[in-house]
Amino acid sequence: ANATGTALVTGGNRGIGLEVCRQLGRLGMRVLLTARDIAEGAKATAALHSEGLDVTFEPLDVTSQESLDNLVDRLERQGTRLAALVNNAAIALAGFDANVAERTVAVNFFGAMHVTERLLPLMEEHGRIVMVSSGVGELEGLSPALRQRFDPPPPKEELAALLRAFVDDVRSGQYAQKGWPGSAYRVSKVGLNALTRLLAEEVKPRHLLVNAVCPGWVKTRMGGAHAPRGVEEGADTIVWAATLPPDGPSGGFFRNRRSIPW
Ligand code: NDP
Repeated sequence: ANATGTALVTGGNRGIGLEVCRQLGRLGMRVLLTARDIAEGAKATAALHSEGLDVTFEPLDVTSQESLDNLVDRLERQGTRLAALVNNAAIALAGFDANVAERTVAVNFFGAMHVTERLLPLMEEHGRIVMVSSGVGELEGLSPALRQRFDPPPPKEELAALLRAFVDDVRSGQYAQKGWPGSAYRVSKVGLNALTRLLAEEVKPRHLLVNAVCPGWVKTRMGGAHAPRGVEEGADTIVWAATLPPDGPSGGFFRNRRSIPW
């Protein structure tokens, strides 16, 4: 396989994101490795440089409006156009309370939403957007009442309000009565999957491809030491979705390069 153009990856300093940067670089893409921690981002970028890859570091905290504004400014000034955007950054915190729910939804759902909205104008025609999601975000297993609220996905503003309502329901102790599962990570990925379907429709006129990918259970700080997959395998379907041909699928959810149900 061969790929051209520029790819931007969030949370590129370690784990699956770093490996996605490496694989995209090996395929011949120019990679913008972004990270919230400047030292960590620079270190990861230097490592990929030493492997001979065309990688540039750009600071980006996906929860910071200012950080996102600055990134967009720089890219616009450079005239950068994006062939691929990989929304990989996420957190999986221990415990479950309103603070955990708020932070998790802020990174995993709103982070991907805001980054995508702001970078959309910079995407090339036939560009690809990848949402790194998880099988835990599958609709199967949600309470029927809750499932109905995400499937089919409501309009974007309603979806965002639904995610904010989850945080409020955790804060007020009402989340179980309201049918929410007791996992903020899970709810954030259910939301991300719904967002993927909405965005895919929204950008159809521009021929952009938007897909969600589950990397499987991968050995990273998040996945832990007992995960069966290495990052090479975990990054594979993400890289595949980030380099799809113009007639490739859009609005899908994939694992092992195969379509899986929402
Ligand atoms: P890691 O915890 O190893 O890496 C997470 C990355 O996200 C880090 O680079 C981290 O940066 C970054 N990040 C977190 N918050 C922010 C933020 N506010 N702004 C910018 N970057 C941020 O996780 P993985 O590599 O395992 O996960 C990558 C993706 O794969 C995630 O979307 C995850 O949900 C998904 N996934 C992973 C699975 C697994 O088994 N590992 C299974 C299913 C899905 P920092 O170093 O600064 O913390």
